[in-house]
Amino acid sequence: MSSDLHMHTRCSDGLLNPEELVEAAKAAGLNYIAITDHDTVNGICQLYEAGLYPAKGIKIIPGIEFSAHHETQEIHILGYNIDIYDKNLTDRLNDVVEGRWDRFSNMVKRLQELEYDISETDVLEIAGDSTSISRSHIAQALVKKGYFPTVKDCFDEVLEKGRPAYVSHFLLEPEEIIDLIKQSGGIPVLAHPKLIKDDTLVEQLLKQGIEGVEAYYPKHSPEDTERYVAMANKYNLMITGGSDFHGIPGRLPKSLGEFVIDDSFAAEIYREPAI
Ligand code: AMP
Ligand code: MN
Ligand code: MN
Ligand code: MN
Repeated sequence: MSSDLHMHTRCSDGLLNPEELVEAAKAAGLNYIAITDHDTVNGICQLYEAGLYPAKGIKIIPGIEFSAHHETQEIHILGYNIDIYDKNLTDRLNDVVEGRWDRFSNMVKRLQELEYDISETDVLEIAGDSTSISRSHIAQALVKKGYFPTVKDCFDEVLEKGRPAYVSHFLLEPEEIIDLIKQSGGIPVLAHPKLIKDDTLVEQLLKQGIEGVEAYYPKHSPEDTERYVAMANKYNLMITGGSDFHGIPGRLPKSLGEFVIDDSFAAEIYREPAI
């Protein structure tokens, strides 16, 4: 049996709703999963409120993926076992999500100035009922309009940090994210360290109260994984991994179960739900 501790639903920028994601994970034979939407715990709330969390036949870890503020690099921090109804956490998430809405409007304006024929409605049609509006939704709208062949091309050309339509949103500092996760009962884990593109910065972050490292990740080479496992061991941190499944056509991994980790890593994190 195998596990996957990094995946997204429609509540952020994934394609499947939480219920569909859990069914797909069961069909893929996964034993433990973590739902880690960007800046929202709505997916887990929806499952809980529908009586689907805890779930039969699969162990679900409530999770989240935060984006942290940094001048030049993109830093993501996962939180596992957070209390989804913790008031400090949900208040701060509301601030971040509100910032995403402002930034979404600003990015659409910027794109219009760059003479792309795109409206807020075009993006909202893609985003559906997601509250955590993302560049990923904007990219899909631009691809649908025929401006770019793929979402990746769109990011490379206009949406990446430093590209013409990039606008930052309100981002919490790494220290605050780590504290928020811990005070709501969770475990902060540094997501996909290779994507930070600066191992000196990775090591600095690991010394700031992070408790785990996502060493297993589809974009990590075997050498990258080995290096991050060694780093985790050096600082006495947990080792985690996940596919970062979004379910968006053209984006890897195509299906759940394509990239998995050994159950032992997930078992170390999993707690029986108290509810
Ligand atoms: P945001 O959180 O709004 O800044 O958007 C970032 C999201 O866009 C990430 O979570 C990814 O899902 C997606 N993304 C970022 N970079 C790329 C890329 N180069 N190609 C495709 N998707 C990307
Ligand atoms: Mn995403
Ligand atoms: Mn990420
Ligand atoms: Mn992710």
